[in-house]
Amino acid sequence: MDITKLVRSNILELKPYSSARDEFSGGASIFLDANESPYPTQYNRYPDPHQRKLKQRIGQLKKVNENQIFLGNGSDEAIDLLIRAFCEPGQDEIVIPQPTYGMYSVSASINNVITRAVSLTSDFDIDINKTLAALSSNTKLLFLCSPNNPSGNLLNYEKVIELIEKFDGLVVIDEAYIDFTSSSGFLPLLNKYTNLVILQTLSKAWGLAGLRLGMCFANVEIISILNKIKPPYNISVASQLIAEERLNDEEGKDSRVREIINQRDWLASELIKLKSVERVFPSDANFLLVRIKNAKETYISLLERGIVVRDRSTVLLCDDCLRISVGTPVENQKLLKELSQL
Ligand SMILES: *Cc1c(COP(=O)(O)O)cnc(C)c1O
Repeated sequence: MDITKLVRSNILELKPYSSARDEFSGGASIFLDANESPYPTQYNRYPDPHQRKLKQRIGQLKKVNENQIFLGNGSDEAIDLLIRAFCEPGQDEIVIPQPTYGMYSVSASINNVITRAVSLTSDFDIDINKTLAALSSNTKLLFLCSPNNPSGNLLNYEKVIELIEKFDGLVVIDEAYIDFTSSSGFLPLLNKYTNLVILQTLSKAWGLAGLRLGMCFANVEIISILNKIKPPYNISVASQLIAEERLNDEEGKDSRVREIINQRDWLASELIKLKSVERVFPSDANFLLVRIKNAKETYISLLERGIVVRDRSTVLLCDDCLRISVGTPVENQKLLKELSQL
């Protein structure tokens, strides 16, 4: 697939801003090129605009070349930049199987890009025929979320492959929750498909939502387009340093993930025992989608008891559903106790 044919022409022709750290990134003893303060406040210097050290570490972890990694201020930045790079406002389209993460359509709307919503099946998997039918010659991006938010399930692997192979645009697979599954996801196929884009984040399994670090993996051409249009210093010095340090503790991450998975499975088995709970959907993520009698009232009652969950009862296919993040053992027990007393 020729990526240059998919990119908006103004972006293809764009001459990017060249920052001081782009023009000189070698060693010098006196830096008078960026109008920084010369006094060491810990953060007086601009960050590396290409986040080289951090990408080196992420490349090792994910077994991906550094030039196939884009880092954003959260995955949300990558979502926005993908839309801006590939979709001509008022003309191009994005297809989004629903229900899913809300940022894809919000970002599209901000950029005045048309979205086509297609429904997932009743068990929240891809409906191949509906999805293929929604794709047109103006469709540039197809967003898939696996494991999906708010349902928690992995999408069917073969169906995703079929879409990647049949669609002439980019398939963006959001794997924010991939560390909570035993699936290796789609990263191993990165070099097989030029139209495959994968999003991951440090916000969930790595426990660093406050840091704002999202990762986008794709072929070199797509990554260089994102780098060309990003704000030059989009990842702060503090974020880069803290992320580098935390990424060395993979064991700590893995043990927290195991604990969350154990708690998730225990919580699911306890929730289904409650009279008010009609269904707990199978989850490959760190949350559960729960169909419950009087979801809205339950949401409010829990809130009055100091527990906030996510009311998804007005979302497509999620009638009477609450989305509940898995907490600590104490938090989960408290939740069950309050629910059983309602
Ligand atoms: C939480 C979440 C993200 C994370 O976004 P960040 O901006 O990286 O914090 C991305 N996608 C989905 C589907 C999510 O649920």
